[in-house]
Amino acid sequence: MKEIKIADHTIRPGEFKAINIDIARLPSHTVINTPIYISRAKEDGPVLALMAGMHGDEINGMEIVRRILESGLHQPKRGTVVCMPIINMYGFLNYSREVPDGKDINRSFPGTRGGSLASRVAYHLMHDVVPVIDYGVDFHTGGAMRANYPQVRAELKDQTNLELAQAFSAPFTIDAPFRPNSLRKEASKRGKNIIVYEGGESLRFDQHAIKEGIAGTMRLMKHLNMIDEAPQPDVENKIIWSTGWIRAKTPGLFQSNVVCGQHVEKNDWVGTVTDPFGEFQEKVYATESGYIIGLNNIPVINAGDALMHLGTENLCKLESLGDD
Ligand SMILES: [Zn+2]
Repeated sequence: MKEIKIADHTIRPGEFKAINIDIARLPSHTVINTPIYISRAKEDGPVLALMAGMHGDEINGMEIVRRILESGLHQPKRGTVVCMPIINMYGFLNYSREVPDGKDINRSFPGTRGGSLASRVAYHLMHDVVPVIDYGVDFHTGGAMRANYPQVRAELKDQTNLELAQAFSAPFTIDAPFRPNSLRKEASKRGKNIIVYEGGESLRFDQHAIKEGIAGTMRLMKHLNMIDEAPQPDVENKIIWSTGWIRAKTPGLFQSNVVCGQHVEKNDWVGTVTDPFGEFQEKVYATESGYIIGLNNIPVINAGDALMHLGTENLCKLESLGDD
């Protein structure tokens, strides 16, 4: 059995350890660390990382990992589960996606030991965690007031990614090219497959997205032969090959006719933009047939703002995917 060592802590078969990786200090000299919970079965098997809160305001992922820890699902029959409920402790404390200097950790990989805060967090993940894992799920949500329907994102030309995403079996699996300097890209260079799960919006619990995230994780663990039982998917997993935004042509107040996850036909009336005075309105139509995989919940919009994210099962020309 291979030795598992994370930041000078050795985890032996059958052991559970809760450790902290010290990242840096705040200006107050308060130490900020990233907690890691490692559960290793007596029987050998893969090492799976469950990582949340890379963006500090994306609470649903934290809640998924928290419930997994609370209910004991992090204790596999075979292999090891490495849980990181809050990677970006700075952002969590500040209700923000980024670290205090405004940098995004998921654009800062592989990072450096003496770099800026985001770069240091990335470095510790790459240096201490990624080398010991085989697979990972990186849990995210949509941005402020932008809800993502539960979905897995991965570069699907990689056969292992496709296999992991289909095992997870979220309502949607989305082909998403690697983002430069992201965790999943840098980890893939080291032969580690990390898929991204997106569900709900930042700073708001979405019970459906939390439930899908936990069920998908269990299906993935079963697929990896780490556990024996997992819930069946509620809906058939659909693979989305192209995605794009429907944007506002005029500024004003937006009201949607659709809900997240719904299927629409090309040219369906999907929403309306009005002025605030009852003098003007413009109907918004679907640019393609497909599924609403993300929806803007902010009524006040400027021209060009993203209103809804459309995903199709066909390869077609649509505007590129939003951030993970
Ligand atoms: Zn995110």
